[in-house]
Amino acid sequence: MSTGFPKFVVSGNSYQKGVMYGEQAKDRIEKSVAFYNSTFKKRNISDEMLAKLVEKFRKIIEREYPEQYQQIKGIAEGSGIPVEQIIALNCRSEILQTARLMAPECTVFAAMPEATANGHAYCGQNWDWYPECAEFAIVLEAQNDDGPDCLIFVEAGMLCRNGMNSVGIGVCGNGLTAKGDAQQEGIPIPLVRRSILESKSYGYAVEILLCSQRASSANYILADKAGVAINFELTPNDFFQMYPENGILAHANHFIAGRGFVEDVFVKVFPDSVYRYLRAKEILNAAAPKITLDDIKAMFSDHFGYPRSICRHFEEKGGVGQYETVASIIMDLTAGILYVSNGPPCENEYHEYTFSKK
Ligand SMILES: [Zn+2]
Repeated sequence: MSTGFPKFVVSGNSYQKGVMYGEQAKDRIEKSVAFYNSTFKKRNISDEMLAKLVEKFRKIIEREYPEQYQQIKGIAEGSGIPVEQIIALNCRSEILQTARLMAPECTVFAAMPEATANGHAYCGQNWDWYPECAEFAIVLEAQNDDGPDCLIFVEAGMLCRNGMNSVGIGVCGNGLTAKGDAQQEGIPIPLVRRSILESKSYGYAVEILLCSQRASSANYILADKAGVAINFELTPNDFFQMYPENGILAHANHFIAGRGFVEDVFVKVFPDSVYRYLRAKEILNAAAPKITLDDIKAMFSDHFGYPRSICRHFEEKGGVGQYETVASIIMDLTAGILYVSNGPPCENEYHEYTFSKK
């Protein structure tokens, strides 16, 4: 049994939040920076190339998301780490894409009130990535004076990976790649997700998701405790939506709604996506309309196709086998509870995190 991820609480204006984040999570941010610097090097991204990319993204962030730029500067100040390194962390997906490294990052689901035993709305994901990331992932609670509080699971130093807010909006995201991705400018993913969670209503959240400039494809589930969940397959210039069937949504790492409209690159790298999607949907369907938290946990522990299963396990051979389920995240949007396992959920318990303010 593993221990849970540490939780840090930040408040104040954007810059103050960043400083508090940097001070509290300094050790983990340092590990995060060291890990991604070494990953960039392994992918032959030179210091010179990295500096150019960071400067490009710095300008985009400063122009499009000035508040979040202040928070990034605060993280640098609080942790004593150069701001360029904090920008690189927040753009790690975009930087790695230039080296053609694609992050699978998951199987996702949503179960709406009509499908669950307690009438609660849930969403969540298994986060499949490098096992080393467990050493520097955290739970961050960002308290906002003029908007909802956010409860976020994230790699230390980044603004968001997935999470929910205190008005009951949850966001999960996973990898999708289509031919032609990474050819244009876009807003780094963590900033878009954080802005979504700072939204007071689904209406603002969906606008941020669909109208932000994108460099690459990605998949999102955007859910609301009112019982609305939509899956969006985004490409740089288009999107394809999927609505729940019997209150259930599932997705993995291949285009489903967009199939035939785009050339799917990712599924050729992670073909296991085709059955992870099916298993997630079928396991939840079998438990509906009385899906419980335990049914969701069982779905995330599924070993069909092991080790390339929904609950993914590390393979010594490397390549796409080097990833495993680093954390499993379940959000009860109705109750405002975030459940997170540290490591594959088949062998690690879920720890519970809640909003501090009631
Ligand atoms: Zn497992």
